[in-house]
Amino acid sequence: MINKALFLDRDGVLNKYIPNNYTKNLNELFVFKYVFKILKYYKNKGFKLIVITNQAGINKGIINYKDFILMSKYLIYYLRLDAIYFCPHTDEDNCFCRKPKNLLLKKAMEKFKIDPNLSYFIGDSYRDLLTAKSLNIKFVLVLSGQTRLEDINYWHYKPDYIIKNLKYLKDIIC
Ligand SMILES: [Mg+2]
Repeated sequence: MINKALFLDRDGVLNKYIPNNYTKNLNELFVFKYVFKILKYYKNKGFKLIVITNQAGINKGIINYKDFILMSKYLIYYLRLDAIYFCPHTDEDNCFCRKPKNLLLKKAMEKFKIDPNLSYFIGDSYRDLLTAKSLNIKFVLVLSGQTRLEDINYWHYKPDYIIKNLKYLKDIIC
């Protein structure tokens, strides 16, 4: 295992989280301004940039698959991502890829030959934390999405780092 990666959740990390709703198409995808620069910085430092995202709205019929692909193409191009791994399933589908299950993360680690010790998972939810921890990857919680600081009191496992948003990743990884 030779590479290092930033594993990134999508909604609430790269783009604005819409409470109780889904980001359904490009018009609703508000990428935070600082994301472009900060990801470029880590890309240039040799990190693979890999998104791991739950998108249950697809199987619920709320997100059109074509619209999801368009959003993904946009993100891959403008953020120079190496890959987007997504799970279209709902809880009822009982799949192996919906976070906190780790199939997508596992696949990505194998494909890109990722060393977990050199890598980080950045997410905005407890599901993300559990996914990262299941494969011994350091977890960085961002408060730009669905989690408020006080929510963490109720979590059994705690994040390794907590930052306001992705811009502050430089305080952790220089
Ligand atoms: Mg999220």
